[in-house]
Amino acid sequence: MISDKFLSQFNDFLPYGVILISEDLKVLYHNKKAKELLFIKSDIDNEEFFDSFNKFPNLLLFIEDAFSGKKNFSREFNLSEDNIVQVDGIFLDDNQSLNSLDNIKINGALILCVYPVSHFKRSEKNQRQFVANVSHELKTPLTSILGYIETLLDDDNIEIETKNKFLKIIQRQSQRLATIVSDLLTLSQLDKEEVTDTINDLKNSNIVDVIINSIDSMAFKAEAKNINLVFHGHEQILLPFEPGLMEQALINLIDNAIKFTPNDGTVEVKLKLFKKYMEINVIDEGPGIPEKYHTRIFERFFSVDKGRSRKLGGSGLGLSIVKHIVLNHKGEIFINTNLNSNGSTFTIHLPLE
Ligand code: ADP
Repeated sequence: MISDKFLSQFNDFLPYGVILISEDLKVLYHNKKAKELLFIKSDIDNEEFFDSFNKFPNLLLFIEDAFSGKKNFSREFNLSEDNIVQVDGIFLDDNQSLNSLDNIKINGALILCVYPVSHFKRSEKNQRQFVANVSHELKTPLTSILGYIETLLDDDNIEIETKNKFLKIIQRQSQRLATIVSDLLTLSQLDKEEVTDTINDLKNSNIVDVIINSIDSMAFKAEAKNINLVFHGHEQILLPFEPGLMEQALINLIDNAIKFTPNDGTVEVKLKLFKKYMEINVIDEGPGIPEKYHTRIFERFFSVDKGRSRKLGGSGLGLSIVKHIVLNHKGEIFINTNLNSNGSTFTIHLPLE
């Protein structure tokens, strides 16, 4: 037979709050989580509990309505700006009345179940914001493509030079669309559970091979701007990582470094070994990034200068992909201002075990 004491302790382990209210508006039972979620002081007992609802007039209204209409309710309540709970009110009528231990019959009671939902709401909000950003980012090149196609179709006498100029714009904007879509696919792949599972079960690989492959893949871009793309480091460092993903992260960083470095400049990739981790620095000679943007820059579609980034053909997703990959490897990424006062230095730390 389960004792009352056991049940009460058991209820305190529940991840949601439970409150039992009688028809004469007295709290007969509550668990610890109920107080926590409703910001009610831990030393308040059942007697004083109902008065605490005064600070939530909307919830109070629903409780009173539930009793007068003898009905259930399920509602979200904003307790403070960033604190939302869902409260399910379950009305027990006379037929469902509870018998308390000392055989006092409780007629007409209301059970409140209080669930914390702030994190769901926050993630819903982020998702809505993300969809709005994606739509906006896709709409801009599409509008330009459609506009130029219409002009080309409407004007039969268009000069060949102007025609070629418009076609080049259409080509550039289509490439931008393709980059955005491909980066979105990468991000959604990274969110998949199988990727996290693979990353938790990694074999040792040589990071130097991956750095050299990434540099080789970007060499043609560096050559086009006469940029000196150099690597300083070791011959071999073995550590657990997923080579395909890490190469993608490094390519994104080196690609940005080349994009933002002026012609004839230098982009360096430096590898350093520490006791517990290794460090990769991608150093460029670009305009640098103001310190106030050092964390925001990893957000999806964030850009210091939107116009400039569009001209350079970015998707606005490159750094969020890099961050995602590095965090999935239990590493860290940050912008290091001390190493290089001109330009930017992106630093990755990866644990050796
Ligand atoms: P994008 O595709 O726009 O380059 P990223 O996510 O790669 O998107 O970068 C986000 C923004 O961060 C860029 O638009 C740019 O403002 C800034 N940024 C990234 N890398 C550099 C860099 N090496 N130097 C200066 N600014 C950079």
